[in-house]
Amino acid sequence: MMNVLTIVVPCYNEEEVLPETVKELGTILNQLIQAQKIAVNSKLLFVNDGSRDQTWNLIQKFSQKHDYVTGIKFTRNYGHQNALLAGMNVAVPYSDMIITIDADLQDDVNAIPKMVDAFLTGYDVVYGVRNSRKTDTAFKRQTALGYYALMKKLGVNLVPDSADYRLLSKRATEALLQYQERNLFLRGMVPLVGFKSTKVYYPRKERFAGESKYPLGKMIHFALDGITSFSIAPIHLILGLGVITVVVSIILMLYTIYEKIRGNVVSGWSSLMVSIWLLGGIQLISLSIIGEYVGKVFTEVKHRPRFNIEQETFSAKFKDKK
Ligand code: UDP
Ligand code: MG
Repeated sequence: MMNVLTIVVPCYNEEEVLPETVKELGTILNQLIQAQKIAVNSKLLFVNDGSRDQTWNLIQKFSQKHDYVTGIKFTRNYGHQNALLAGMNVAVPYSDMIITIDADLQDDVNAIPKMVDAFLTGYDVVYGVRNSRKTDTAFKRQTALGYYALMKKLGVNLVPDSADYRLLSKRATEALLQYQERNLFLRGMVPLVGFKSTKVYYPRKERFAGESKYPLGKMIHFALDGITSFSIAPIHLILGLGVITVVVSIILMLYTIYEKIRGNVVSGWSSLMVSIWLLGGIQLISLSIIGEYVGKVFTEVKHRPRFNIEQETFSAKFKDKK
């Protein structure tokens, strides 16, 4: 029995790149089938994350034209991470391995055969790692570096320079799907799953067409999500800050008493103002950090579905065959 590969591709307003994506991924898939590395019923699974353009119509069109193209349609936009999860969820019963890749062809598709080879030699998790950040702006490069360093300090295990381009075996995917959290940060969750893993290096290119669906605001949000979903170090930090503040205030108190005994009182307006503002600021920051965690608890306890599917053409193609 040959192994079934499903390539999951999240798509949000990707009509400009989709035809090229289908072509390139289709070629790779067919080469792998020819080489007898994967089963003939291996598929591409496009997850339409509530696109407002022609993305879903295109997916349906390609799905009718090619047997290896399938799709999922979300009822609305649920975000990149949920789209990946939905794809894995739908694909896992019929697949032996699942590769996730962005629709924009920034990640070199030639790494796919290497990932499959690694799977065939016994790896359950194969991370796609970019070997250069040449196509990034200096700003993105620096912030990414700082972020990995910070996450490491906070005790979060990430594979640097790897994003959501990776292969997971069936059992690794099943294990990942057991993680029930709603605040998804998949690149932090995959290392937690364990299993034997390896890396495949590839050069990351410019987007083939269209523009980034991750504007700065969304990216900052995602980065903060990564921290607060995986680490309570910021809360410990607040404790440290509190302790320091108390120590400083004791010293100040002693100083004030000393000054009072010496009779130099009225002065001190400036130091008072400074400390009020400083303490106010520290308190607000601390409250907001705690609020961030309380907010996470709030979204988790609701146990809402992570996505809703309106239409899906993947499983039908498998059931036909059986
Ligand atoms: N994406 C998605 N839902 C969203 C935003 C993005 O499914 O709400 C998809 C998008 O279509 C692409 C992938 O996530 O396939 C990565 O997005 P993008 O390439 O815009 O991010 P960047 O490479 O700029 O970080
Ligand atoms: Mg991209």
